[in-house]
Amino acid sequence: MKKGELLYEGKAKKIWKSDDPDLYIAEFKDDLTAFDAEKKGRAEGKGALNCKISAYLFKLLEDHGVPTHFVSCPTEREMVIRRVEMIPIEVVVRNIAAGSLTRRLGIREGVRLPFALVEFYYKNDELHDPLINDEHALILELVDHESDLEELKRLGREVNVVLKSFFDKIGLDLVDFKLEFGRRDDGKILLADEISPDSCRFWEKGSGRKMDKDLFRHDLGDVKVAYQEVLRRIREEIEGSSPSST
Ligand code: UDP
Repeated sequence: MKKGELLYEGKAKKIWKSDDPDLYIAEFKDDLTAFDAEKKGRAEGKGALNCKISAYLFKLLEDHGVPTHFVSCPTEREMVIRRVEMIPIEVVVRNIAAGSLTRRLGIREGVRLPFALVEFYYKNDELHDPLINDEHALILELVDHESDLEELKRLGREVNVVLKSFFDKIGLDLVDFKLEFGRRDDGKILLADEISPDSCRFWEKGSGRKMDKDLFRHDLGDVKVAYQEVLRRIREEIEGSSPSST
């Protein structure tokens, strides 16, 4: 498959057209950003790790009936994806309090929430991705119908059920994560973007060791070592090459 025109370059990925009008190519970059891109860094090989981790998790979700944009990984850091129109909403699902939830509501970090909390953020750099409710999303015309928002929540919860139990098995607490969705020409909503330690929080069970982008955000340790460990556990669980060592 040939790369065509560069359509978009974001903080962590580039999206290219391909020679198939229904497929794009996502290239995962080694760049790291945090705090509205005020903090910038790079970790050699991070893009390839996130590409592989996302591919495993998209396949896992597809196997559990969640429709995704994932097609294949032709190279280490490239993913062939289905063409969708992105919905400018970040869907965050939380199991344990961390990050902005602790700052906004004063809930202590590490408190387990009584049920999975689903939040919407308006994807808009100038406005710093504000938290929004359903009515804001409709007024901003981010989706056409209230039922689309219900579908985003349903998919967010479904992804959480699958991923939470998967990460449980490999000794990691899935604290929270961010999803993005896109719409096919026929209106069907697909899970898109990526699912990686850049977009999730993973804490090692028992030790509480952070194994995600918080290492970069707060200078807590080596991003690449942690991401490699996340990939190793995912790969071992899925490929069944050896029992997970946790
Ligand atoms: N997240 C993300 N991209 C964003 C904002 C958040 O991937 O632009 C992820 C983040 O890594 C975490 C979850 O969404 O897993 C919840 O993030 P939170 O709202 O706590 O924001 P933060 O504390 O990271 O600013």
